[in-house]
Amino acid sequence: MRIFSGIQPTGSKHLGNYIGAIVQYVAGQERGDPAIYCIVDLHAITVDYDPAELRERTYDTTAILIAAGLDPDRCILFRQSDVKEHSELSWLLSGVTPLGELNRMHQFRDKSVAQRDLVAAGLLFYPVLMAADVLAYRAHEVPVGEDQREHVELMRRVAERFNRRFGEALVVPEVRIPEVGARIRDLQEPTRKMSTTGSSEQGTVYVLDEPGAILKKFKRAVTDSGSEIVRGEDKPGISGLIDILAAVRGTSAEAIEQEFADRRYGDFKVAVGEAVVDYLAPVRERYTALRADEGALEEILAGGAGRARALAAETLLDVRARMGVGPASVGPAA
Ligand code: ATP
Ligand code: MG
Repeated sequence: MRIFSGIQPTGSKHLGNYIGAIVQYVAGQERGDPAIYCIVDLHAITVDYDPAELRERTYDTTAILIAAGLDPDRCILFRQSDVKEHSELSWLLSGVTPLGELNRMHQFRDKSVAQRDLVAAGLLFYPVLMAADVLAYRAHEVPVGEDQREHVELMRRVAERFNRRFGEALVVPEVRIPEVGARIRDLQEPTRKMSTTGSSEQGTVYVLDEPGAILKKFKRAVTDSGSEIVRGEDKPGISGLIDILAAVRGTSAEAIEQEFADRRYGDFKVAVGEAVVDYLAPVRERYTALRADEGALEEILAGGAGRARALAAETLLDVRARMGVGPASVGPAA
């Protein structure tokens, strides 16, 4: 069972990333053979960004992942751009990816309207690179948040189309979405997901926020009309808070509703805030020590890249041979 997932080194990682993705990554280390996790710097350049900051944020993200419990000896942790096979495979897969489908992706639609100067072609192409990330490792499972379901479905169709046209070289991966916390909501605009790009600063809880800042954000969280602590279509604010507490406690939303049946919104917001503070405190502590040693982080990434490259190169050899790219008599399918 191979597991693969990627996380962008943009901005500061938030509670949605943590609950929706990072917690699953850590669990995947036990099941994955191997579990492969990638800091996707090449995805981050599809929107406006600062080059120096990109490198800094790559170290930040690496340190957060390790602080959260990733162990470079039990998983493969690396930087996407260090393994050139991702870029090559993404181009090769472009030949079996319909433009119309890329155009319909929600992420492309949402992010392209948010760009001021330039809607980069890379933003449209993002899901093809993501398909290459996963398919290069013949991964069976892709742990992601709900917002990425559509991209995993697209990569499944790309793999199937490739296999029909060129023979069974690629594994069609399954998406893995957490039962609780697959779509953590922005605290200020609870109809939207908490997000690095395009969500509100006050509504986004960062993994590295100070306890005081976290509590303040929860106290100011937008709630809904009524006074009952139950989930509902018309109660996006309270529903979001219930989800967060359920995920943090490792319990169900129903259990939270029962526990807080007689309580008021104000008390509930404080309870969720305090639970999140306790949840993130150990991560923040470990982060500080890890982030201080960039040399050590770079070494971990380089070690991971070596192991990743060996796996991806095998797939690329096969794919190139089947597609008739490069000289004959090289690769398994020749
Ligand atoms: P951006 O807004 O720039 O796309 P992001 O906050 O979505 O950034 P990514 O690096 O794209 O961060 O996502 C990393 C992982 O976190 C993905 O698996 C994604 O599905 C998951 N994720 C992102 N936001 C949430 C959220 N609000 N709830 C649950 N999972 C999330
Ligand atoms: Mg995203």
